[in-house]
Amino acid sequence: MKEDINWAALPFGYYPTDYNVRCTFRDGKWGEIEVTQSETLSLHIGATCLHYGQEIFEGLKAFRGKDGKVRIFRMDENAKRMRRSAEGLMMEPVPEEIFNKMCVMAVELNERFIPPYESGASLYIRPLEIGLSPRIGVKPATEYMFIVMVTPVGPYFKQGFGVSNYCITRAHDRVAPKGTGQFKCGGNYAAAMRAGEEAHDKGYSAILFLDPLEKKYLDECGPANFFAVKDGKYITPASESILPSITNMSLMTLCEDMGIPVERRHILVEELADCSEAAAIGTAAVASPIGNIDDLDTGKTYVMARDGKPGPVTTALYEKLNAIRYGLEDDIHGWNFIVGEDRVNA
Ligand SMILES: *Cc1c(COP(=O)(O)O)cnc(C)c1O
Repeated sequence: MKEDINWAALPFGYYPTDYNVRCTFRDGKWGEIEVTQSETLSLHIGATCLHYGQEIFEGLKAFRGKDGKVRIFRMDENAKRMRRSAEGLMMEPVPEEIFNKMCVMAVELNERFIPPYESGASLYIRPLEIGLSPRIGVKPATEYMFIVMVTPVGPYFKQGFGVSNYCITRAHDRVAPKGTGQFKCGGNYAAAMRAGEEAHDKGYSAILFLDPLEKKYLDECGPANFFAVKDGKYITPASESILPSITNMSLMTLCEDMGIPVERRHILVEELADCSEAAAIGTAAVASPIGNIDDLDTGKTYVMARDGKPGPVTTALYEKLNAIRYGLEDDIHGWNFIVGEDRVNA
């Protein structure tokens, strides 16, 4: 049965699907994978995820290609990152094999919600892990649940690939200098929500955060990584408070393929004056081009898109990565997992 959905108009929101899959870690081992139609959970009121933030998640996408095949982009990397997040928050790591298997199951079970190629939409895959054991004293849980849910999402750029504006402020940090910035945990999002809403209220897409220690260098761009183009080079912040974006990693590889030099290093705020392009990077948008960056503390405006349009490097990278994700271009790096053809490695 095909769904009668206006795929291209779907927001980045929750649209109910048929199934989600779950697996529980109990008595020192991961149990059977369960398939359910329930959209709710029954939890102990003392669970560590509710009190002490033992919650981590991932985000990846499945795409229906022009050839009709369904591709999941770089799932192995998400599995590895989730393991690192689990270790960072003293949670039980989900074995990569279980992670991959459950992502594929969730996609297959909800096949009718994978948007058609023409719509530009995709199926967003959201794996999450929570601590279940009741704790009042601060201690890691011994029981955990891993869930994979999916939901169809529309194309990120509904009005076409275009720019939006960001701001810099020293009034907020997303994470602490040696905190949890490199882990994909809900707590980081809660900590940055007030800052994000204030930026939205002022008309910005998000805050371009500065490094939380010295406030001299560029750091995370809202809930996304950041790159700029300076003297024809792709520059992206090196920082221990940034979440290592798989999209950013992929764009750096594509730069190498395309002969664009890459620098991963500290980037001073003032360097923005010498940059010709910039973008926020992540699975949702690939690269969301930046128009202006206003420094709210100094009153300076850095113009990243002089003609108000996405620059050539950002556009080329965006198109190239999308072409790989939709199977229009050879997947020379082996990034796609083709559902129904490829097998999950044990
Ligand atoms: C998920 C996330 C990103 C983007 O990572 P991708 O793997 O490219 O989707 C960047 N920053 C933060 C804080 C994130 O949570």
